[in-house]
Amino acid sequence: MNSTNSLNSFGYHPFFESYFNEYAEQGYSVGRVAIENKTNYLLYSEFGELTAEISGKMFYNIDGKADFPVVGDWVVFRAIPEEKKAIIEYVLPRRSKFSRKVPGSKTDEQVIASNIDVLFIMTSLNADLNLRRIERYLTLAWDSESEPVIILSKSDLCDITDELKTEIENIAPGVHVHIISSIKQQGLDTVKKYFEGNKTIAIVGSSGVGKSTLINTLLGYERLKVNDIMDYKDKGVHTTVRRELIILPNGGLIIDTPGMRELQMWEGSDGIGATFEDIEELIKKCKFKDCKHESEPGCAVNEALENGTLEEDRYYSYLKLKREIGYFERKHNQKAINAEKKRWKKIHMQAKEHMKFKGRS
Ligand code: GDP
Ligand code: ZN
Repeated sequence: MNSTNSLNSFGYHPFFESYFNEYAEQGYSVGRVAIENKTNYLLYSEFGELTAEISGKMFYNIDGKADFPVVGDWVVFRAIPEEKKAIIEYVLPRRSKFSRKVPGSKTDEQVIASNIDVLFIMTSLNADLNLRRIERYLTLAWDSESEPVIILSKSDLCDITDELKTEIENIAPGVHVHIISSIKQQGLDTVKKYFEGNKTIAIVGSSGVGKSTLINTLLGYERLKVNDIMDYKDKGVHTTVRRELIILPNGGLIIDTPGMRELQMWEGSDGIGATFEDIEELIKKCKFKDCKHESEPGCAVNEALENGTLEEDRYYSYLKLKREIGYFERKHNQKAINAEKKRWKKIHMQAKEHMKFKGRS
């Protein structure tokens, strides 16, 4: 495999080449970010996988969060092949990017992943269709400049697939909609076509719709679960950590980062008021401010549920979305995370002491 060939298999494109040319003349190399871990990166390159850091000069010139490399980026670097290392100097312009505002800041942008050609918006055929959620994902895709494709999963659990497909096509004019079953291996050839030409794809959709199953099916093996990843904070990018830019055996790439998985919920957090405005309005009418809508007197939610003006299903999906958002907000509360880490460290130390003690006796 020559070097352009290997770069192509990572999704290299004339767009990036046109920007890289001037750097190539100066002896730089180009590679793609496969893992981002604060100040450490793992790159795919013509030298194989390299652990990388950004140069002092680049760090000095950085304006805002959006200038740091993220998974999917093409970066210009100085290679130290004998040490399997690289020093990153520049991020090449992005063809597409998913970003969100940094919490608490009005202007700073945080890029979550970049250079995604196609966004698969996945929703499962055996659950309630949430057209509003699909619309939100479509907005996300258009904003990012990637092409949205809607994937309806778990067709083996649904008898009215065509009706649902039509319903979705009506709110998404011009967007391709495909029906698949990973378990029954149906519709997968259509999905695979999107990877042709070493395209990069990301999958969004609620938890449980079958994203991981599809990735594993395309890969042909089980990928490490998020929970199995060890903390590699102080060790640089550890080589056994799972790649977040996944190269498929038959060509094409998938970006699967925690940030992309959570994106939907952050968006949900803004959109929940609009999507469930009727329920939020009802809640304001409850007699007690802290009403839990259980058995409190004067509860407007219960009243609406009883007289049928609020559908039970709708109320449950509202509660479910609320719970999911709460979960991600808790997860992003750094203080809580640190406290939890401290607690585990203590437990770990105690366990070690205990083992030592046992070893002696
Ligand atoms: P994720 O949270 O979106 O990554 O969803 P998973 O891939 O973990 O799938 C959630 C559950 O749905 C698992 O129990 C899968 O086995 C199941 N599942 C995934 N794809 C299919 C499918 O095509 N048909 C059926 N019947 N179940 C599926
Ligand atoms: Zn109430």
